[in-house]
Amino acid sequence: MEKFENWYNQSPDEALQKLETSNSGLPSEIANKRLEKYGKNELKKEEKKPFIQKLKDQLLDPMILILIAAAIVSFVIGEGVDTLIIIAIVVVNAFLSIYQEGKAEEAIAALQKMSSPKAKVLRGGEQVEIDSADLVPGDVVILETGDVVPADLRLISSSNMQIDESSLTGESVPVEKDYKIKYDDKVEIGDRENLAYSSTIVTYGRGSGVVVETGYNTEIGKIATSISTVGDEQTPLQKKLAKLSKTLGILVIVICIAVMAVGILYKNDPLEMFMTAISLAVAAVPEGLPAIVTIVLSIGMGKMAQRNAIVKKLLAVETLGTTTVICSDKTGTLTQNEMTVTRAFTDGKVFEVSGTGYSPKGDVTIDGQKVSIEDENNLRMLSSIAALTNDAKLKVEGEDATIAGDPTEGALLTFTEKAGGSIVELNKQFERIEEIPFDSDRKMMTTFHDKFFDEKIVSFTKGAPDIVISKCDKILIDGEIKDFTDEERELALEKNTEFARSALRCLAYAFRIHETLPENISSEKIENEMVFVALTGMIDPARPEVRDAIAECKTAGIKPIMITGDYLETGLAIAKDLGIAKSDDEAIMGRELNEMTPEELREVVKHKTVYTRVSPENKVQIVTALKENGHIAAMTGDGVNDAPAIKKGDIGIAMGITGTDVAKSTAEVILTDDNFATIVNAVEEGRIIYSNIKKFVAYLLSCNLGEVLIVLIAILLDVPVPLIPIQLLWLNLVTDSFPALALGVEQGEADIMNEPPRDPNEAIIDKEIRITVAIQSIAITVATLLSYFVGLKWYGMESGVNHARTMAFSTLIICELLRSYTSRSIDKTVFEIGVFTNKKLVLATFVSFLLMLVVIYVPVLNEAFGLMNLGPKEIGVVLGASVIPLVAGEIQKKIRFRKN
Ligand code: ATP
Repeated sequence: MEKFENWYNQSPDEALQKLETSNSGLPSEIANKRLEKYGKNELKKEEKKPFIQKLKDQLLDPMILILIAAAIVSFVIGEGVDTLIIIAIVVVNAFLSIYQEGKAEEAIAALQKMSSPKAKVLRGGEQVEIDSADLVPGDVVILETGDVVPADLRLISSSNMQIDESSLTGESVPVEKDYKIKYDDKVEIGDRENLAYSSTIVTYGRGSGVVVETGYNTEIGKIATSISTVGDEQTPLQKKLAKLSKTLGILVIVICIAVMAVGILYKNDPLEMFMTAISLAVAAVPEGLPAIVTIVLSIGMGKMAQRNAIVKKLLAVETLGTTTVICSDKTGTLTQNEMTVTRAFTDGKVFEVSGTGYSPKGDVTIDGQKVSIEDENNLRMLSSIAALTNDAKLKVEGEDATIAGDPTEGALLTFTEKAGGSIVELNKQFERIEEIPFDSDRKMMTTFHDKFFDEKIVSFTKGAPDIVISKCDKILIDGEIKDFTDEERELALEKNTEFARSALRCLAYAFRIHETLPENISSEKIENEMVFVALTGMIDPARPEVRDAIAECKTAGIKPIMITGDYLETGLAIAKDLGIAKSDDEAIMGRELNEMTPEELREVVKHKTVYTRVSPENKVQIVTALKENGHIAAMTGDGVNDAPAIKKGDIGIAMGITGTDVAKSTAEVILTDDNFATIVNAVEEGRIIYSNIKKFVAYLLSCNLGEVLIVLIAILLDVPVPLIPIQLLWLNLVTDSFPALALGVEQGEADIMNEPPRDPNEAIIDKEIRITVAIQSIAITVATLLSYFVGLKWYGMESGVNHARTMAFSTLIICELLRSYTSRSIDKTVFEIGVFTNKKLVLATFVSFLLMLVVIYVPVLNEAFGLMNLGPKEIGVVLGASVIPLVAGEIQKKIRFRKN
């Protein structure tokens, strides 16, 4: 296989030959061999952080540095065992953090792989979809509007193809492409019309090309040294929590210095006081918070993926929970996108069409009488246009009929067969020689065929009825071309409205005869002065689950909005049926928005819920106005022109099935099932995650504050500190973190979608949390000190202090473990939500409890930790005291419940 610099100097056949391939692509075995030889077609993602770097980052954390200082001080004052324990705890903690961070990274990478770019290739003659990374030189790639070109290609076919090469050349006007051109001389990159470059975008038309270069050998590869991965930026919540940790950190250090000063004033040993202050700092600073948030957000991403929403950025997980309006496409998202033609209007008559789905079983009737193309000239013309101006494929196997391609077009193939036409025959007889592809701005599509009218050329057009009808000046009546009178035009428009009111998706059909194939094939020249033939109306049933999802949105304070390219009456009828709109004045046509000032737009979007005949620019206008009104807007899209609107939305959502590459690569969320209900599920998941984050923040803060209070009060009362440094370290860095993580994966309150969306600027430590933290930390302090003082009383201040400390230590741990159960819900008691319903929490508290037993009962360890075995009497006190915070938490819930 030869490799060239200048593929634009080769004809398609020469290129295929030199690459030892053919029009039907490479066989898979050869492709696999070439993949080994040439490597993956990708620009390497940023290398993962190496383990040593991660370890270094962990150990350079200020908190850890303080601990290392403490270890050194312990060593100097001859507490060698303490030094060892501190170091052991630091190491265990570092490894645990690295492990968890790694897991989160893996999860995110796996999800990102799910949204990795795909390419349509011919392998051994069959069209298959593969990861773009697996493309090799010689592969034949199919390109359609909206595709991102996956490698550098020599085009081998093209039809009206235009490519946006701005990512490569900076030129923002799309470039026309033509496979037939072969240059003899050197041509600059921006002018090579027979090549398509990796990462550029097909904005119009279609074609195919043979891969000539992949990976770093592509033009983009040569200029891009490394493309960084998405998802590594911090979300606002992560930033807020990092800031909170920092502020608390500083506050705590001030407190610790004060504690040390008071301790020394009270004539305690300064070195001992120094150690206590340090362990208190470690106890009180919630240094684990940002890490836990990242882990919980990434677990959330995984859960959303299971519910068919692939979230590409952590940020989106968080923003989803704050969504206040969802702007959704109609076709395929709110509806099933399974079209069936049920009515047609031609020759002044309305025909009914029976049958369901894509199966060609069914009849065309008029007044109950079956008719076919044999009886009706206009019906023959309509079914020909429907079948020929069509890119879909119909596959009938026994009872089952499926389509490949656009469902609207699939329905038309079925219709042609029902009317007695033959798709196969028509396509064989009247081959397509040129076309003007469909686009959602023009809302029309035209194809050219010869031999239809003897030696003449015909262009067939189908598209949005209001537009098509306005471009016709003749009409076909019983097979004869006549002038289009005003009454006939009125009647056609009336029928269109009538169909649309019954929620039917309407298309109109027209044609134009040309003496020869026109030179200039543009919409302005061709889609004019046409002969109007017919209208069809097709049903597209609403997705059954969407009605509930819309109702759920409304109770959750989220406004659902339909944005559609379809006709006003059709959109409105479906919107009313689904519960999006109540009255007719909630609908508006896209073109009305064009005339409005930004102020007027902001006013309009306050009460409109159905936007019809919308252009991609209108979508941007709508989402901009909504955002200016203070909304957090989710915006869906699928087409190549939707990218700006998707980008503009706070949450851009692309359709996984019908979406183009461009839409998918711009969006933050991809719906694998294109379903509106999935968006609502993702919003719910986003809310759950946020409320879980609040729960474990409250949990960790109340535990930490409790520990500070315990030590502080003891020092002020001039009794020995109830917890010595290594005990504080153990319970903070080891036993606390498991339940906190488990709280992060709590299932969520059942009524979470009955509340209005939260304000994205709301402080994470709101009034509710402040009250909870205050009550809980006081309860924890009371319980622990109670146990401690009972111990001191029983065993004496001097000799019995280790006994009392063991009681305080175990009370504190059990308090915190029990408290994690009350933290699970803000208003339901432990019993109402079920004690064992969060299995992860059960496991986490069990492990933490075991770790507590280990340091109390394992011989050498307990000595090192200064702990003693407890007898039944002491255990009784410990258990009794430990339930205090739990009871306080539950009483708090009841009081709040009464108040509300
Ligand atoms: P939504 O925006 O909700 O998905 P839509 O599918 O109607 O709705 P577009 O795909 O932009 O939006 O289509 C706009 C209009 O163009 C349609 O209402 C229809 O009248 C017309 N149209 C759609 N598909 C075709 C097609 N394949 N050929 C010709 N006209 C079409």
